[in-house]
Amino acid sequence: MCTNVNMKDLITAHHEMAHIHYFMQYKNQPKVFRDGANPAFHEAIGEAIGLSVGTPRHLQALGLVQASVDDTAVDINYLYSMALEKVVFLPYAYVMDKWRYDVFKGEVGKDQYNCHWWRLSEQYQGIKPPVLRSEIDFDPGAKYHIPANIPYLR
Ligand SMILES: [Zn+2]
Repeated sequence: MCTNVNMKDLITAHHEMAHIHYFMQYKNQPKVFRDGANPAFHEAIGEAIGLSVGTPRHLQALGLVQASVDDTAVDINYLYSMALEKVVFLPYAYVMDKWRYDVFKGEVGKDQYNCHWWRLSEQYQGIKPPVLRSEIDFDPGAKYHIPANIPYLR
């Protein structure tokens, strides 16, 4: 990972280090068990550490925040910021894998790929495309995980 000195990369670096620590926890297991119980376990551990490192109290302990964090407004602002980042992300992640599984099941033909993407986005995220879209476009492909065939809901 190429990092910059900013909050986003601080959290991402900790998230990735949490993956490594999880890998190390089962390094002596028989080969068949040298992986997470499922991909969601790995991401849950990464997210737990990432969330922990970004709390106002931890940042103050590291000397990265000078102001007092014993303030209700600080807590509310931090929690609101996390909600915007994490809760809003859930329906997006769900739409990505629902679209993938609908395609894999053959429920959506090639002539409906883009339309189905936006139908799901409207249904679960409550969003619409900012400009008119058609089957000439392939908006799901704009997200790396779709053309790379990487599950996302984890
Ligand atoms: Zn991760």
